[in-house]
Amino acid sequence: MTAPMTSHVTLIAADAEALRAAARAAYPDECCGLLVGEGEAVVRVTEVVPTANVAENPRRAFAIDPQAQFDLLRQARASARRVVGHFHSHPDGPAQPSVHDLAMAFDPEALWLVLAASAEGVSAPRAFRRPEGEAFIEVPVKVVP
Ligand SMILES: [Zn+2]
Repeated sequence: MTAPMTSHVTLIAADAEALRAAARAAYPDECCGLLVGEGEAVVRVTEVVPTANVAENPRRAFAIDPQAQFDLLRQARASARRVVGHFHSHPDGPAQPSVHDLAMAFDPEALWLVLAASAEGVSAPRAFRRPEGEAFIEVPVKVVP
C-alpha cells in the first residue's frame, strides 16, 4: 500500500517553540518525542509530547520511551486523534534524517520531524517522510498561530 501524499504539515507556533525548547534542554543529547494530530493530505500536528530518550547513547541516537509510546497510542485510540509521527534533534548535526535514521524508518506513514541543535541555538523543525523502499522526502512545515 502506498502512503497518502502529504502536501504539507501544519505546526502550531507554541508547539514549534516547545520542540525547540526540548532540543535546547536535551543538548548535547538528542531529544525525542511523539507528535499527535490529524489529517492526511495536510497533516495537522495538534500536540507535541516529549518523552525520555532511552537510547544507549543519547548523544548519537534516540529511542522513544516505549511505555510513553504505548500509553499515548492507547489514549489516542480512545479519541479521534492519532500519533502522526515523532521528533528528535541532532546535536551539532544538520536538521535532516541521518543514515542511522534511514535504517530505522520502517513506517511510510510516520512523519519525521528533525531539529538541529548546537550550543548557539536550535533550528526550525523540518519534516520528512520515507516512502517504502525510497529515500526520505521533505514535507514543508507551515507554522500556524
Ligand atoms: Zn536522527
